[in-house]
Amino acid sequence: MSTSETPAFSTDFIREIIREDNKTGKFGGRVHTRFPPEPNGYLHIGHAKSICLNFGIARQFGGKCNLRFDDTNPVKEEQEYIDSIREDVRWLGFDWEEREFYASEYFDQLHAWAVQLIEAGKAYVCDLTAEQIREFRGTLTEPGRNSLYRDRSVEENLDLFERMRQGEFPDGSRTLRAKIDMAHANVNLRDPVIYRILHAAHPHVGDKWCIYPMYDWAHGQSDSIEGITHSICTLEFENHRPLYDWFCDALGIYHPQQIEFARLNLTYAVMSKRRLLELVKGGYVEGWDDPRMLTIKGLRRRGYTPEAIRTFCERIGVAKFNSTIDMQLLEFCLREHLNKIAPRVMAVLRPLKVVIDNYPEGQVEEVEAVNNPEDESAGTRKVPFSRVLYIERDDFREDPPKKFFRLAPGREVRLRYGYFITCKDVVKDADGNVVELRCTYDPETRGGNAPDGRKVKATIHWVSAEHAVRAEARLYDYLFSKPDPSAVEEGHDYKENLNPDSLETVSDCYVEPSLAGAKPGDRFQFERLGYFCADDTSTAEKLVFNRTVTLKDSWAKIEKSGKADG
Ligand code: ATP
Ligand code: MG
Repeated sequence: MSTSETPAFSTDFIREIIREDNKTGKFGGRVHTRFPPEPNGYLHIGHAKSICLNFGIARQFGGKCNLRFDDTNPVKEEQEYIDSIREDVRWLGFDWEEREFYASEYFDQLHAWAVQLIEAGKAYVCDLTAEQIREFRGTLTEPGRNSLYRDRSVEENLDLFERMRQGEFPDGSRTLRAKIDMAHANVNLRDPVIYRILHAAHPHVGDKWCIYPMYDWAHGQSDSIEGITHSICTLEFENHRPLYDWFCDALGIYHPQQIEFARLNLTYAVMSKRRLLELVKGGYVEGWDDPRMLTIKGLRRRGYTPEAIRTFCERIGVAKFNSTIDMQLLEFCLREHLNKIAPRVMAVLRPLKVVIDNYPEGQVEEVEAVNNPEDESAGTRKVPFSRVLYIERDDFREDPPKKFFRLAPGREVRLRYGYFITCKDVVKDADGNVVELRCTYDPETRGGNAPDGRKVKATIHWVSAEHAVRAEARLYDYLFSKPDPSAVEEGHDYKENLNPDSLETVSDCYVEPSLAGAKPGDRFQFERLGYFCADDTSTAEKLVFNRTVTLKDSWAKIEKSGKADG
């Protein structure tokens, strides 16, 4: 397993359970977890929490963690998803070594165990329709009713189950059900279906089967086959644990321990794969890797680092109750990492031309710029300076308000790593728009200080017009405009909360020449503007940068004021 910045001795209620089990010798000191995605979509930040937890625990306790594709539903699953899941888990920094498993490879064993249950009088073939099964199940307050087929003989059940397998019956006409207790307080134990008929080929094991195991039947037994010790899942499976235990006991097989924790919810986001798929299919986003998506692919393309995601997962911890984490915490973890690793560069998103009248025409000099003040080893670089520059349009006001200290007519400011300049004149087009500034510079201020000790109140960034490289910048806001986009009134849809301004494309930016060779995935801090990452589509001919996150950190403030609940 690769290194991570997560502390080695983090703790939480799950790790406490494992320590206790190791003390009592419950699993002989073994720790073996698994990450069990269903390959029916791309992984998202919620999965990252589960990945960090399962692989993190294995690493911390010197155990193992399997990657298991929970591929029991043949119709929704695709190879594309399997490939992406593998890639994403690796990108996050985890390694399942040779332990890549598929629930579908256990179908023979699962089938044999179903036969064993029938032989023990603990399962029966039921002819009720799905509708009737629901009807017979009862409610939380009322017991269910026994199926009319509950008392079939073992022989008849074996015969019918075999014929189900042979393909004699149409989809949905029969099921195999565990015979538990239709009056059980926990509805999951009211004779749950364990096999259904589905005439569909499976992407991994082909057309061998026309009966498929249900999730509850496949999951615990897969854990058992793999010798999992702690089967960690999200809270909605808490009510399924008695069934998980019942199956293992009824079969008399090795019995892992299921432990539930609260799933990750984030503000301004939707997290279910069903919805993410809907956003992709409906064209609301560019694809699974749209930089606004909280998929691992989207986050990567946006410029997130695996370290930042792992740190985030560490910080939020694991608990037994549901809560919603502030998106700003995720961004805080990201800034914290990018601040350490991202080289600083100068880029101008909305250029305004500046001509320095007293600077010699044709002269070019190179000023020395610090690559990363947080990392001395990153060194310095040369940035060309010349008579015609671009500055940020926002850094000039013809009629500056009170607290605006940047450039204005008659005012002097510092150019980062350059000289002091003073705005002498404003050039406008026919419509009165400012199109150019005429300035002078003070040759004595090279490097940013005046020998006479006079001060300026602002330092602005710039690029040399002749040397700068054109680029496109994509500025993102949250995909949803409400903190809880899923909270909608009856008859409304979460998609109504999509943020119409979640993407702003700025096509005429200029970046300093050192960025000409930026490769997709390269990350930078554009000074004063935020962290940016070269997009997957970026080329030498057309540079495209995604703004990963702005520099403004509101999380630290929130935390200080004590309002943080993360
Ligand atoms: P979704 O609800 O997004 O469709 P899922 O639970 O159906 O997700 P799986 O592929 O079954 O997706 O999930 C694989 C593992 O990831 C499971 O163990 C599941 O508990 C975990 N997981 C999924 N979503 C989250 C989340 N938001 N927070 C933490 N763990 C999650
Ligand atoms: Mg699932």
